Amino acid sequence: MSIEIQTTCPSCGRECPLATNPTDDDWMPEPGDVAMCVECEAPGLYDPSLEGNLRAPTADELAAIQAAPQWKDTIAALRHAKRLGARRAN
Ligand SMILES: [Zn+2]
Repeated sequence: MSIEIQTTCPSCGRECPLATNPTDDDWMPEPGDVAMCVECEAPGLYDPSLEGNLRAPTADELAAIQAAPQWKDTIAALRHAKRLGARRAN
């Protein structure tokens, strides 16, 4: 399920109108939750006090995110979704 939350990637500036958590239908983002940019694959941390709702992680936060056991699966799922989207667009 997707919810409508306008976010702006702190890395590439891509705007995204939806947020999705594929493992939890009742999910609502909380400050500090990690969002992945579908364009550049950079992680951003949800912060509703910011205009784009996301901030770039610090170096320590980025290291922790990339060391998390879900990191590789998340990147793989993101790339798979991008390939499916590219196929539909053609
Ligand atoms: Zn991005």
